[in-house]
Amino acid sequence: TNSNHPLKRINREIYKYGVNKHKEIEDLKRLEAFRREFLADVSHELKTPVFAAQGFVHTLLDGAIDDKKVRRKFLKRAAKSLDNLDKLIQDLLTLSQIETGEIKMHFEHFNIVPLASEVIDQLENKAERKDLTIRFDQPYNSPIFVHADADRIYRVITNLVSNAIKYTESGEILVGFEVEGQKVQVYVKDTGVGIPPEHLSRIFERFFRVEKSRSKEMGGTGLGLAIVKHILEAHNTKVSVISTVGKGSTFSFKLPIGQGADGLEDGTVDTE
Ligand code: ADP
Repeated sequence: TNSNHPLKRINREIYKYGVNKHKEIEDLKRLEAFRREFLADVSHELKTPVFAAQGFVHTLLDGAIDDKKVRRKFLKRAAKSLDNLDKLIQDLLTLSQIETGEIKMHFEHFNIVPLASEVIDQLENKAERKDLTIRFDQPYNSPIFVHADADRIYRVITNLVSNAIKYTESGEILVGFEVEGQKVQVYVKDTGVGIPPEHLSRIFERFFRVEKSRSKEMGGTGLGLAIVKHILEAHNTKVSVISTVGKGSTFSFKLPIGQGADGLEDGTVDTE
């Protein structure tokens, strides 16, 4: 018999520890596998821009530097790779800080309308370069006060609108709000490439991209939606997506409506 097979022996050992120990060991094994996979993914993602920048710089040093036209082109590409590397490191830091709870959330009551408007202003140029317009779905004349971390929600809306720009060729990106009782639903709607249904559940995983080349071309790190997901989890809420290939996508999330001017003053920080 093969009752001395190492795996069987290990299983017998595990069994001796009892069922709880067994579960603990399984959890540890999963965590360890996850860590290893994550490290491999990160190394791979870091290598790509470093390798590209290295290539351009070395080619320049090997003589391409003497050709004025080539020089400019290669330096531009090297700079773009380094910008991508910088973005990737920033995103990795943000993600790990949120995951480990290192970043404290600062909950406050604020009007989300001007905050979203600021995001639109910030990204308007990027959109115009692509024959796209970003605007509010309808005019929001009265304030919508939410109870949340304003900086992090700014980041969430920025990531969603940036993606809408990246994955839409032309048309309109709409940012909107729907108040439902004590909650407001915030949505970002695009007329872009859409996401195939079989990939919908995976786009929030780190480094998952439907189309790797397109994401990289647009300067994507593959971490934007993972960051969105984690920030919203820290708010006890989640992000939803509805998408049709070739027609577009709508990303949305809900936030609790806070007290406005009749309660706490605008921007008052809660003492937790
Ligand atoms: P990336 O940096 O690649 O954009 P994200 O985490 O922000 O990374 O998004 C993961 C993937 O989800 C993208 O690579 C893209 O394939 C898909 N995706 C995200 N937003 C959209 C969108 N608005 N329209 C179509 N596809 C999207």
